[in-house]
Amino acid sequence: MINLFSYNSTNKHKDTIKKINKIYENIKDYPDSLLAEQTKKLEDLAKSPKITNTALLIEAFATLKEAIFRATNLELFDVQILGGITLNNGNIAEMKTGEGKTLVALLPAYFNSLLKKKVHIITVNDYLAERDATLAKKIFSYLNIEIGLITQTTTSQERKKEYRCNITYITNSELGFDYLKDNMSIHQDDIIQQGFHYAIIDEVDSILIDEARTPLIISGATKVKKEFYKSSEKVSKVLQKNTDYNVDEKSKSIILTSKGIYKCEKILNIDNLYDIQNPWIKYIINSLKAKELFLKNRDYIIKDSQITIVDEFTGRVMTGRRWSDGLHQAIEAKENIKIEAENKTLASITYQNLFLLYEKLSGMTGTAKTEEEEFNNIYKMNVVSIPTNKKCLRKDMPDLVYKNEYIKWEAIAQECLDMYKIGRPTLIGTTSISKSELLSKMLQELEVPHNLLNAKPENIAQESKIILEAGRKNTITIATNMAGRGTDIILGGNTEKIIEQKIKKYIREIFDKENENTKKSLSNIQIESIIKKIKFQLKDENNGQIIDLREIYKKLKEKYTKSCEIEKNYVLNLGGLYVIGTERHESRRIDNQLRGRSGRQGDKGTSRFFLSLQDNLFRIFGGNKIENIINNLNIDSNTPIESILLTKSLDSAQKKVEAYFYDIRKQLFEYDEVIHNQRKAIYKERKKILTYTFTRDCIIEYGEQTIKEMLNIYFKNKRKEEILKEIIKLLNIKTNTNKLLKMNSSELKSYFNEQLRISYDLKEVYLEQLRPGLIRQLEKYYLLQQIDQAWQEHIDKMSLLKEYIGWRSYGQQDPLIEYKNEAFNLFINMITYIRQTVIYLIMRSRLIIDI
Ligand code: ADP
Ligand code: MG
Repeated sequence: MINLFSYNSTNKHKDTIKKINKIYENIKDYPDSLLAEQTKKLEDLAKSPKITNTALLIEAFATLKEAIFRATNLELFDVQILGGITLNNGNIAEMKTGEGKTLVALLPAYFNSLLKKKVHIITVNDYLAERDATLAKKIFSYLNIEIGLITQTTTSQERKKEYRCNITYITNSELGFDYLKDNMSIHQDDIIQQGFHYAIIDEVDSILIDEARTPLIISGATKVKKEFYKSSEKVSKVLQKNTDYNVDEKSKSIILTSKGIYKCEKILNIDNLYDIQNPWIKYIINSLKAKELFLKNRDYIIKDSQITIVDEFTGRVMTGRRWSDGLHQAIEAKENIKIEAENKTLASITYQNLFLLYEKLSGMTGTAKTEEEEFNNIYKMNVVSIPTNKKCLRKDMPDLVYKNEYIKWEAIAQECLDMYKIGRPTLIGTTSISKSELLSKMLQELEVPHNLLNAKPENIAQESKIILEAGRKNTITIATNMAGRGTDIILGGNTEKIIEQKIKKYIREIFDKENENTKKSLSNIQIESIIKKIKFQLKDENNGQIIDLREIYKKLKEKYTKSCEIEKNYVLNLGGLYVIGTERHESRRIDNQLRGRSGRQGDKGTSRFFLSLQDNLFRIFGGNKIENIINNLNIDSNTPIESILLTKSLDSAQKKVEAYFYDIRKQLFEYDEVIHNQRKAIYKERKKILTYTFTRDCIIEYGEQTIKEMLNIYFKNKRKEEILKEIIKLLNIKTNTNKLLKMNSSELKSYFNEQLRISYDLKEVYLEQLRPGLIRQLEKYYLLQQIDQAWQEHIDKMSLLKEYIGWRSYGQQDPLIEYKNEAFNLFINMITYIRQTVIYLIMRSRLIIDI
């Protein structure tokens, strides 16, 4: 771990920061044209062997600081520069919400693009990618650096162009899918990515930790076995919890008892539930999971008659995502809606391994310190806490613990009412949609107006608007976990946004009036682009309509800057934003995220958690220690308990949960690493073939390898003649086995290798005559097709393998080792199979001309 406060490192960075600020003072005098030349100048300087990295960094950071100032009128704080240095060193900069991380990322991005590295800035959603790219474009227009942006709506053609920019904004999932797609492409031209040089991940904990449990999957549909799901669902209804099966809530798993197994076999009228040829067990387990562990309106919602997953961390609806391995279908059967086709995984990767592809990786977030060990072990990144620009004045109050859940919610509702009465903005974080709705109902009864921000689709569109309002007086906001991440809550309201809304309304009114007769109307996109023009062209005097609007813009700005200021002071007098947590989350990090919503940039604020002993976390992980404490305290159930002993026990329960989930991620990582190494090998071979012009060499190489492997078998085996015939058939040659049987190993090898070449030359001549160039295309086609097919089958086998090893070695020492060994065998078999089929097919290719 780097200790920021150790004598050496502070001094070293202090010195660097000082130098940056000094050069920045000089650059301030540059005219725009000279500033723009800095990029070229620094790029040239970077090539010179004389300049040190630090010297170049100092120049680059100073230049960018000035570009930021010219574009936004904001002057970077020293702590932001420190954050930039940290990111450039390939570490995680922990900087609190509202400290200005968006700008911080630009520093290392600029520096690394001077070194001719493609820089990717990764965000958690399209909205943030677009917002931040727009800002970056504005700033880098002063420096001749190209900014790319990729969102869900970007076409493949555009993507290629965007990836070629110096710095590209993109979400983690788009990046991952592009990677997988690139490695499935059949033509070299279809490849869109430009390599993995340097990535800066925003909200890095969300991407590398929260999302690390679910891999990205590209899948194709196959046939669905509906009856299996329906029958299992019926069986699952009959089975009794705790007699026929046990539920392990911790690991979200189901274990059948022998009684349960017997029952299933009887109902289904089968001999063996675990029969590999007819594996009912998978279906039964999934149906039981659907029954016990996946609940409507918590884990999923039903939207347009489809099961739609709700992300357990963000509370967002994940449209289009499906649970894998038949679980989704089991839930569809439970809800009695159409069972969709089963998906076959064509390609997949976990985020862990995706990001490890980068030469250099860095990240930033408000909350990472608690997961430092994980970042260090898996990604080799240190977590460096950057001090806040102004001292944080937020008060984190001790937890209030209630005996039961109902009383807890009553207390929370009451607290909201009190806050509403005095006008203090309050944000309540809840852990599920149903709980957010429960509180919403309670507040309705108390007649407390409030905004509800949860994963339901009708609320999502309102998201950024609700977050913008959340710091205003009298505003009570209920949100599921960290919805609206990346937008900060500004006390008294966000002047810019308020003006934007007013101007939008104004433009619309004017336009409607002018076009009363034609009934034309302005789309939102048109209005957005007018607003953008006003903002970007404040200096441009040649546009009549825009000048008018600019005046209005300026006036509005004056008015609302003042009123927001007044409101902010009012809210600050009440103590600033009050954040209420309603349950401890499964890591302290997520609790801290919620707390961090309050107290930005030195504002006052408060946070408090209201807990109950019936909360999931304590019920599952707390054990009876906590219960004992309560019973010993012997108080009535309406009084909350504020006890240090209790808080300590709660902390330790939460740490247990953290450790538990870390273990799961670590396990997933270790298992995925096995397949990841294989994936890298396959993708490398694929890429070689795709970009190679001499694919003939590949074919000959595959052929010679195959001959070698088959001869190995030949010399170990008694059925010699049969094997020789196989080789002869595979190579499609005509020869007599009698004379071959007398040859020794090296004679046979050179004989077959020679035959392979002769036979292939003939094939080539034959095809060349009919269609010049065709043979090269065929080679490429067969190679890629066979690799892809075999690889997809391999992925299936690997996932089965993992499952079987899980069952087989329940409680055994190290299933991972067993998995690695068998995975290796499967891989070797696959490679052998690919070579053989390619040779078989190419030796038999003929041209059939359709007439
Ligand atoms: P974070 O991502 O760290 O939560 P943002 O990058 O969203 O923070 O910035 C929060 C707000 O702070 C933005 O409105 C931004 O314009 C403002 N900001 C950033 N840097 C500065 C600065 N140096 N001086 C003043 N305001 C700043
Ligand atoms: Mg941010």
